[in-house]
Amino acid sequence: METLNEIKFSMPSLSVNEGAARAVVSSFLIQADPTVEELSDIRTAVSEAVTNAVVHAYRGTKGSIELTVRLLKDREIYIRVKDKGCGIADVEKAMEPLFTTAPEEERSGLGFSVMESFMDKLRVKSVPGKGTTVVMRKRLKKHGD
Ligand code: ATP
Ligand code: MG
Repeated sequence: METLNEIKFSMPSLSVNEGAARAVVSSFLIQADPTVEELSDIRTAVSEAVTNAVVHAYRGTKGSIELTVRLLKDREIYIRVKDKGCGIADVEKAMEPLFTTAPEEERSGLGFSVMESFMDKLRVKSVPGKGTTVVMRKRLKKHGD
């Protein structure tokens, strides 16, 4: 799919950057004139992915998180959140609703479910010891739809 515009944003795995990531995504997507609901869905999905990188991927350590946002043809939004953290041994299991490896921290295991329901497509690639890449896509409504 043809890319019309793209930004890349790299940040250390600090929880304050969950908000920074939301803000960056919002300001980039203004050009596509999303509805309030679409923007809110995308911001929430991005937040979940970045939070996962902060709390799970780099648990007890620090590392870098790369956020890529693309505006594709036909109003499709592409978002990639990439870390070089611990990785996920069983991605299918990790994506099941309510599955969490951190129940004692009051995590509910719903991050991937939120990403899946707020976006049109979600793909997770992970290699234990190497890191995780989350790719999400959402097609914005056409004006007048
Ligand atoms: P919640 O998002 O509801 O606070 P959670 O983060 O545990 O809880 P999910 O976001 O659905 O739930 O993630 C499920 C599990 O997948 C996590 O508990 C963690 O084990 C693993 N996981 C998710 N993202 C990553 C990542 N980037 N690196 C390593 N492990 C991850
Ligand atoms: Mg999560």
